Amino acid sequence: MRYTAWFQCIRGCPGRHALTEVIYRCPVCEGLLEVEHDHEALRGRAPAAWMRLFDERHGRTLWPYGSGVWSKLEWVLPEVTPDNVVSLFEGNSNLLWAERFGKQIGLDDLWIKQCGISHTGSFKDLGMTVLVSAVKQAIALGRPIRALACASTGDTSAALAAYGAAAGIPVIVLLPRGKISAAQLVQPIANGALVCSLDTDFDGCMRVVQRLTQDPQIYLANSMNSLRVEGQKTVAIEMVQQFDWAVPDWVLVPGGNLGNVSALHRGFVQMQALGLTQKLPRLVCCQAAHANPLYEAYARARAAGRALTEADYVAQVARPTLASAIQIGAPVSLPKAVRAIVECEGIVEQASEAELADAAAMADRTGMFNCPHTGVALACLIKLVRAGTIDRAARVVVVSTAHGLKFTEFKARYHEDALGFPARYANRPTLLPAAPELAVAALHRLLDAVQG
Ligand SMILES: *Cc1c(COP(=O)(O)O)cnc(C)c1O
Ligand SMILES: [Zn+2]
Repeated sequence: MRYTAWFQCIRGCPGRHALTEVIYRCPVCEGLLEVEHDHEALRGRAPAAWMRLFDERHGRTLWPYGSGVWSKLEWVLPEVTPDNVVSLFEGNSNLLWAERFGKQIGLDDLWIKQCGISHTGSFKDLGMTVLVSAVKQAIALGRPIRALACASTGDTSAALAAYGAAAGIPVIVLLPRGKISAAQLVQPIANGALVCSLDTDFDGCMRVVQRLTQDPQIYLANSMNSLRVEGQKTVAIEMVQQFDWAVPDWVLVPGGNLGNVSALHRGFVQMQALGLTQKLPRLVCCQAAHANPLYEAYARARAAGRALTEADYVAQVARPTLASAIQIGAPVSLPKAVRAIVECEGIVEQASEAELADAAAMADRTGMFNCPHTGVALACLIKLVRAGTIDRAARVVVVSTAHGLKFTEFKARYHEDALGFPARYANRPTLLPAAPELAVAALHRLLDAVQG
C-alpha cells in the first residue's frame, strides 16, 4: 500500500504542496498550513493491525522504527525513505503514575507523560526529527537548502542544533538575550550551531527569522512549520498505546506558541478517524498568567457566553515568567489551538508565578523533578480539581514538556526562597559541623523537627 501526505491550507483554500517543498504559509490567504494524510489509504489497514504493527516496532532496533516517532512513520511522513530519516531515537518516553501527588491533590488516576526525558531534554525533539528528515529528503531530491534556522525560547534551538548536527546540515539559532537558561544556551553551542543572541524577546527573534527565511535556501524550523506538529502528535498516540489503547479523560499541556496543544489534538483525532479509538480527551491548555493571550481570549468568550473563536484573541507583549519557554505574546499556532480547544470541549487555564513554582516543588516532593512549564500544567490541574471541573476518578495525563535539569537556576532560586514570593515548599540545605558526634546530634534534632 502506498501512503501519501501533503501540505494544505487550514482554512480550506485549494492546493496541495509536497512536504519537501519550501513553503510555510498558504499562497492564497497567507494562513497556516497543515499536513494532511490520505486517510482512505490508511484505512486499508484495519485498526487492530495498526495497533499490532505499532506495538511490534516499539523500542526495537530496526531502523528507523524503534523511535517513538518513526514507529508511526506511515502516519507521520509516509514518503520519507529510511536513509533520509534523521533520528536520535526520540519518543518512547515514560508515562508514570503519579500516585502520591495525585492523592495529595484529590486524584486517583493521575499520570505524567515525561516528554522531557528525551535526547535534548524536551518534547521539541519529536517535531524536529520530522522536520530535519523532510529537509534531508528535499536536499537529496536536489533542493538548494543551505541551512536550517529558528527563533527560540531555548528548547527549539537545542533540538534543531542536535538534529541538524546529526544530519550534517548547518543550523542558525536566534535567541532572546538573557531570557533562556544556561543549559539551553550551551546545547546549541556544543552542537556547533551558529548561535546568535538578540536584544529582544522571542516575538522579536521570530520577526528576524521570518525575514531571514524569505530566502528559500534557509529553511524555517519554527512550529509555524507544520512538519513539527506531525512529529509531536505522536505523543497522543504513544500515551494511548501505553494505556493499552484506552483514551484518557483529560490531557493537560503547557502552551506558549500553541503548536503542541494543536499537535496532541491532531493525534487524538487521527486515531479516532482511523478507528483505533472511540473518543477524544478534553484538552486543557495551561498558560502562565504573564503570557496568556489564549487564556484571555477564552475568558472573553466565556464572559460573553459563547464558544471561543479566533476573533476573541488579542496579541500581547508577554511579561517575564519563570516558565521562560512559554513567554510568548503572539502565538503562531493560535488558529489551530482555537480549533483544537473547541472541537474537544477543551479548557484554557492559567497559573501565576507563585502557583507554578509551588506546584512544581510540591510534586517534586513526591519524587518528580519538574520544569517550570510542567509546573504551570500542574498548578492548573490543582485549580481544576478544586473547582470540581475534573473529578477524582477521572484518568488525567499531564504532559511534562522538558526535563527539570534544564532549569536548575529556577529550582535553586526557589529553594533559596529568592523568587520574590514566599516559596511554600522551600528546602534549604543545612550546614553541619564536621565532628561526627556534633553532626549526628544535630541530625537527630533536624529529623525530629521534620517528623513533628
Ligand atoms: C516549547 C515549549 C512549550 C510550549 O509549546 P508550544 O508548542 O510552543 O505551545 C512548553 N514547554 C516547554 C518546555 C517548551 O520547550
Ligand atoms: Zn489559505
